[in-house]
Amino acid sequence: MSKKKVAIVATGGTIAGTGQTGKTVSYQAGRVGMEEIVASIPLIEEIAQLEMHQLFNLDSNEMDEAHWLELAGCINTLTRREDIDGIVVTHGTDTLEETAYFLNLVVHTQKPIVITGAMRPATATSADGPFNLYQAVCLAVDKRAVGQGVMGLFSNTIYAGRDIQKINNYKIDAFDQRSLGCLGYMQDDKVYFYSKTFKTHTFHSVFSWQLPDSLPKVGIAYFYAGASADILDDLARNHEGIVIIGSGSGNYSTRWLDKIEALANQGILFVRASRVNEGIVFEDRIFDPQGICIPANTLSGPKARVLLMLALTLTRDPQKIREIFDQY
Ligand code: ASP
Repeated sequence: MSKKKVAIVATGGTIAGTGQTGKTVSYQAGRVGMEEIVASIPLIEEIAQLEMHQLFNLDSNEMDEAHWLELAGCINTLTRREDIDGIVVTHGTDTLEETAYFLNLVVHTQKPIVITGAMRPATATSADGPFNLYQAVCLAVDKRAVGQGVMGLFSNTIYAGRDIQKINNYKIDAFDQRSLGCLGYMQDDKVYFYSKTFKTHTFHSVFSWQLPDSLPKVGIAYFYAGASADILDDLARNHEGIVIIGSGSGNYSTRWLDKIEALANQGILFVRASRVNEGIVFEDRIFDPQGICIPANTLSGPKARVLLMLALTLTRDPQKIREIFDQY
């Protein structure tokens, strides 16, 4: 049987970073081409035929909405090709979770899309990038990965694109899916799936029918004890929506509550997430009597921002946006 074909779309990050040979710190992300890294991985050519696309070579903190749209467009073009069976995206770890969720919502395909990166630069002793990339390619050709949406692959673990989150800024096992566990594990090239997501993604997602040309501006306001509500006025000047990263179950002071009500009456859309990593933000009619702030459920603030931006490309009706937050 002929080998499957995987397109590797490289965007930069530490996986392509270089620094002092052998050292893991003080390096620059996005320096090496992906061809060079692939060439260093034993056995990868036995798994799949590879086609390389060096789309960007950036530290992922430089990624923005325009890069997401370009990346999604590139993946949509590649997945429409009959000869491509799966896609691997290499990415910096800092904002990987936002890109993963964005792609999970806008890419229109059943073909596996796997996003991966590294915590150690390519020049470090025991760099983790080559192993993650090897496993990402193995996952992208696995037939059980078809229709699972965008998946993150890190340190032997398979995560859902909706839920993957960086939880450690130092160790190589840097990702998790909050209390939702993971989709499965890998051992070298072997894939072990245990669960799947119930949330709508990729080919079922309404956002995948037509990629927008640009995204509406949505900002994030972080609440802390004593926080002034001026930040909300500042953001409202040039944003259509604001995600509040509240305390506890997405909470904030009455000062913020009053300001949110006033700005919502002027047409700003609000979503409440939480600065607490685990748990869920529900509807709360005692705390938010008029139901002005749409609860983010289990989405982190940055992921809620991604969904609110996409929701605003379709509607400004708070009730419809609330339903979108329940579904995705
Ligand atoms: N700053 C890097 C990036 O996100 C970190 C990494 O890739 O681990 O591009």
